[in-house]
Amino acid sequence: MNNPNILKHPLIEHKLTIIRNVSTNTKDFREAVSEIAGLLTFEITRGLKLKPKKIKTPVAETTGYELEDKILIVPILRAGLGMVDGIHKLIPNAKIGHIGLYRDEETLEAKEYYAKFPTEINKSTVLLLDPMLATGNSTVKAIDILKAKKAKEIIFVGIVGSPEGVSRVRKAHPDVKIYLAALDDKLNENGYIVPGLGDAGDRLFGTK
Ligand code: URA
Repeated sequence: MNNPNILKHPLIEHKLTIIRNVSTNTKDFREAVSEIAGLLTFEITRGLKLKPKKIKTPVAETTGYELEDKILIVPILRAGLGMVDGIHKLIPNAKIGHIGLYRDEETLEAKEYYAKFPTEINKSTVLLLDPMLATGNSTVKAIDILKAKKAKEIIFVGIVGSPEGVSRVRKAHPDVKIYLAALDDKLNENGYIVPGLGDAGDRLFGTK
Protein backbone atom coordinates (compact mmCIF):
# COMPACT_ATOMS: atom_id res chain seq x y z
CA MET A 1 0.00 0.00 0.00
CA ASN A 2 1.12 3.56 -0.72
CA ASN A 3 1.89 5.50 2.41
CA PRO A 4 0.69 8.23 2.35
CA ASN A 5 -2.37 7.24 0.38
CA ILE A 6 -3.66 10.36 -1.39
CA LEU A 7 -7.31 9.86 -2.21
CA LYS A 8 -8.04 11.50 -5.54
CA HIS A 9 -11.71 11.88 -6.47
CA PRO A 10 -13.56 14.64 -8.32
CA LEU A 11 -15.90 15.28 -5.35
CA ILE A 12 -12.98 15.50 -2.94
CA GLU A 13 -11.10 17.82 -5.33
CA HIS A 14 -14.17 20.07 -5.66
CA LYS A 15 -14.71 20.33 -1.89
CA LEU A 16 -10.99 20.77 -1.25
CA THR A 17 -11.08 23.85 -3.46
CA ILE A 18 -13.96 25.21 -1.35
CA ILE A 19 -11.97 24.89 1.88
CA ARG A 20 -8.76 26.25 0.34
CA ASN A 21 -10.58 29.38 -0.86
CA VAL A 22 -10.02 32.29 1.53
CA SER A 23 -13.49 33.63 0.62
CA THR A 24 -15.33 30.56 1.97
CA ASN A 25 -17.35 31.36 5.10
CA THR A 26 -17.29 29.36 8.35
CA LYS A 27 -20.51 27.45 7.67
CA ASP A 28 -19.48 26.34 4.17
CA PHE A 29 -15.97 25.53 5.39
CA ARG A 30 -17.29 23.34 8.22
CA GLU A 31 -19.74 21.53 5.94
CA ALA A 32 -17.08 20.82 3.30
CA VAL A 33 -14.57 19.52 5.90
CA SER A 34 -17.21 17.14 7.25
CA GLU A 35 -18.15 15.99 3.75
CA ILE A 36 -14.52 15.39 2.75
CA ALA A 37 -14.06 13.32 5.92
CA GLY A 38 -17.08 11.23 4.90
CA LEU A 39 -15.75 10.73 1.39
CA LEU A 40 -12.34 9.67 2.74
CA THR A 41 -14.06 7.12 4.98
CA PHE A 42 -15.28 5.17 1.98
CA GLU A 43 -11.70 4.28 1.03
CA ILE A 44 -10.21 4.12 4.52
CA THR A 45 -12.67 1.48 5.62
CA ARG A 46 -12.26 -0.70 2.53
CA GLY A 47 -10.13 -3.23 4.44
CA LEU A 48 -12.44 -3.61 7.47
CA LYS A 49 -13.42 -7.14 8.41
CA LEU A 50 -17.01 -8.34 8.20
CA LYS A 51 -18.78 -11.15 10.00
CA PRO A 52 -21.78 -13.02 8.61
CA LYS A 53 -25.20 -12.27 10.06
CA LYS A 54 -28.34 -14.32 9.43
CA ILE A 55 -31.37 -12.14 8.80
CA LYS A 56 -34.86 -12.40 7.34
CA THR A 57 -35.89 -10.15 4.51
CA PRO A 58 -39.65 -9.76 4.03
CA VAL A 59 -39.29 -12.57 1.48
CA ALA A 60 -36.73 -15.11 2.72
CA GLU A 61 -33.93 -15.96 5.13
CA THR A 62 -30.50 -14.87 3.98
CA THR A 63 -27.01 -14.23 5.27
CA GLY A 64 -25.76 -10.67 5.28
CA TYR A 65 -22.73 -9.09 6.94
CA GLU A 66 -21.94 -6.66 9.70
CA LEU A 67 -18.73 -4.94 10.70
CA GLU A 68 -16.55 -7.13 12.88
CA ASP A 69 -13.89 -4.54 13.70
CA LYS A 70 -14.53 -2.12 16.53
CA ILE A 71 -13.89 1.41 15.35
CA LEU A 72 -12.69 4.22 17.58
CA ILE A 73 -12.70 7.75 16.16
CA VAL A 74 -10.14 10.02 17.85
CA PRO A 75 -9.99 13.69 16.83
CA ILE A 76 -6.96 15.73 17.86
CA LEU A 77 -8.46 18.87 19.43
CA ARG A 78 -9.54 21.11 18.14
CA ALA A 79 -9.45 20.98 14.33
CA GLY A 80 -9.95 17.20 14.29
CA LEU A 81 -13.45 17.78 15.68
CA GLY A 82 -14.49 19.13 12.28
CA MET A 83 -14.04 15.67 10.75
CA VAL A 84 -15.91 13.62 13.37
CA ASP A 85 -19.52 13.99 12.19
CA GLY A 86 -18.79 13.11 8.57
CA ILE A 87 -17.24 9.80 9.66
CA HIS A 88 -19.60 9.04 12.55
CA LYS A 89 -22.62 9.35 10.27
CA LEU A 90 -21.23 6.46 8.23
CA ILE A 91 -20.02 4.37 11.20
CA PRO A 92 -22.60 5.23 13.88
CA ASN A 93 -21.51 2.38 16.19
CA ALA A 94 -17.99 3.80 16.43
CA LYS A 95 -16.91 5.13 19.82
CA ILE A 96 -15.26 8.54 20.06
CA GLY A 97 -12.14 9.37 22.10
CA HIS A 98 -10.34 12.72 22.30
CA ILE A 99 -6.75 13.91 22.46
CA GLY A 100 -5.84 17.50 23.41
CA LEU A 101 -2.30 18.72 22.83
CA TYR A 102 -0.55 22.04 23.34
CA ARG A 103 2.81 23.28 22.17
CA ASP A 104 5.41 23.83 24.89
CA GLU A 105 6.75 27.23 23.85
CA GLU A 106 10.23 26.50 25.27
CA THR A 107 10.88 23.06 23.82
CA LEU A 108 8.33 23.38 20.93
CA GLU A 109 7.26 19.81 21.78
CA ALA A 110 3.62 18.69 21.67
CA LYS A 111 2.38 17.99 25.22
CA GLU A 112 -0.81 16.23 26.31
CA TYR A 113 -3.43 18.18 28.26
CA TYR A 114 -6.37 15.83 27.68
CA ALA A 115 -6.87 12.23 26.63
CA LYS A 116 -9.96 10.09 27.05
CA PHE A 117 -10.67 6.73 25.42
CA PRO A 118 -13.06 3.82 25.95
CA THR A 119 -11.59 0.73 27.67
CA GLU A 120 -11.92 -1.32 24.49
CA ILE A 121 -9.20 0.75 22.75
CA ASN A 122 -6.98 -2.36 22.80
CA LYS A 123 -9.51 -4.14 20.56
CA SER A 124 -10.20 -1.17 18.30
CA THR A 125 -9.06 0.18 14.98
CA VAL A 126 -8.42 3.86 15.69
CA LEU A 127 -9.13 6.52 13.08
CA LEU A 128 -6.96 9.41 14.28
CA LEU A 129 -8.21 12.71 12.85
CA ASP A 130 -6.53 16.01 12.15
CA PRO A 131 -7.29 17.91 8.93
CA MET A 132 -3.73 19.30 8.79
CA LEU A 133 -0.59 17.14 8.88
CA ALA A 134 1.91 20.01 9.12
CA THR A 135 5.14 19.46 11.12
CA GLY A 136 3.89 16.06 12.22
CA ASN A 137 4.75 16.81 15.88
CA SER A 138 1.19 16.56 17.19
CA THR A 139 0.39 13.51 15.05
CA VAL A 140 3.48 11.67 16.32
CA LYS A 141 2.63 12.59 19.91
CA ALA A 142 -1.01 11.49 19.48
CA ILE A 143 0.15 8.15 18.06
CA ASP A 144 2.57 7.75 21.00
CA ILE A 145 -0.40 8.24 23.35
CA LEU A 146 -2.60 5.75 21.46
CA LYS A 147 0.17 3.15 21.38
CA ALA A 148 0.76 3.56 25.13
CA LYS A 149 -2.95 2.70 25.52
CA LYS A 150 -2.39 -0.39 23.34
CA ALA A 151 -4.63 0.63 20.41
CA LYS A 152 -4.99 -2.43 18.13
CA GLU A 153 -4.42 -0.53 14.88
CA ILE A 154 -3.99 3.16 14.10
CA ILE A 155 -4.95 4.87 10.85
CA PHE A 156 -4.25 8.58 10.45
CA VAL A 157 -6.89 10.49 8.50
CA GLY A 158 -6.02 14.03 7.41
CA ILE A 159 -7.12 16.36 4.64
CA VAL A 160 -4.00 18.34 3.68
CA GLY A 161 -0.47 17.15 4.43
CA SER A 162 3.04 18.49 3.97
CA PRO A 163 6.02 16.39 2.81
CA GLU A 164 7.79 17.29 6.09
CA GLY A 165 4.88 16.05 8.22
CA VAL A 166 4.44 12.86 6.24
CA SER A 167 8.10 11.90 6.52
CA ARG A 168 8.17 12.72 10.25
CA VAL A 169 5.19 10.42 10.93
CA ARG A 170 6.45 7.69 8.64
CA LYS A 171 9.84 7.72 10.35
CA ALA A 172 8.45 7.69 13.90
CA HIS A 173 5.58 5.28 13.23
CA PRO A 174 6.12 3.31 10.00
CA ASP A 175 3.25 0.94 10.89
CA VAL A 176 0.62 3.72 10.80
CA LYS A 177 -1.27 4.16 7.53
CA ILE A 178 -1.70 7.77 6.44
CA TYR A 179 -4.68 8.88 4.34
CA LEU A 180 -4.92 12.41 2.92
CA ALA A 181 -6.97 14.28 0.35
CA ALA A 182 -3.90 16.27 -0.79
CA LEU A 183 -0.15 16.40 -0.30
CA ASP A 184 0.90 20.04 -0.63
CA ASP A 185 4.24 21.64 -1.51
CA LYS A 186 5.86 22.54 1.81
CA LEU A 187 5.65 24.26 5.18
CA ASN A 188 6.38 27.97 5.39
CA GLU A 189 8.51 29.63 8.09
CA ASN A 190 5.45 29.95 10.35
CA GLY A 191 4.62 26.25 10.12
CA TYR A 192 1.66 26.73 7.75
CA ILE A 193 1.15 24.31 4.87
CA VAL A 194 1.60 25.94 1.41
CA PRO A 195 -0.75 26.41 -0.42
CA GLY A 196 -2.82 24.82 2.39
CA LEU A 197 -5.95 26.47 3.72
CA GLY A 198 -4.77 28.57 6.65
CA ASP A 199 -5.57 27.73 10.27
CA ALA A 200 -8.10 24.91 10.10
CA GLY A 201 -9.28 25.36 13.71
CA ASP A 202 -9.92 29.08 13.28
CA ARG A 203 -11.72 28.54 10.00
CA LEU A 204 -13.88 25.74 11.42
CA PHE A 205 -14.90 27.59 14.55
CA GLY A 206 -14.87 31.19 13.33
CA THR A 207 -12.25 32.31 15.82
CA LYS A 208 -10.49 34.61 13.38
N1 URA B 1 -2.32 23.84 11.23
C1 URA B 1 -3.24 24.47 10.47
O1 URA B 1 -4.39 24.63 10.89
N2 URA B 1 -2.87 24.92 9.25
C2 URA B 1 -1.63 24.75 8.76
O2 URA B 1 -1.36 25.16 7.64
C3 URA B 1 -0.68 24.10 9.57
C4 URA B 1 -1.06 23.65 10.79
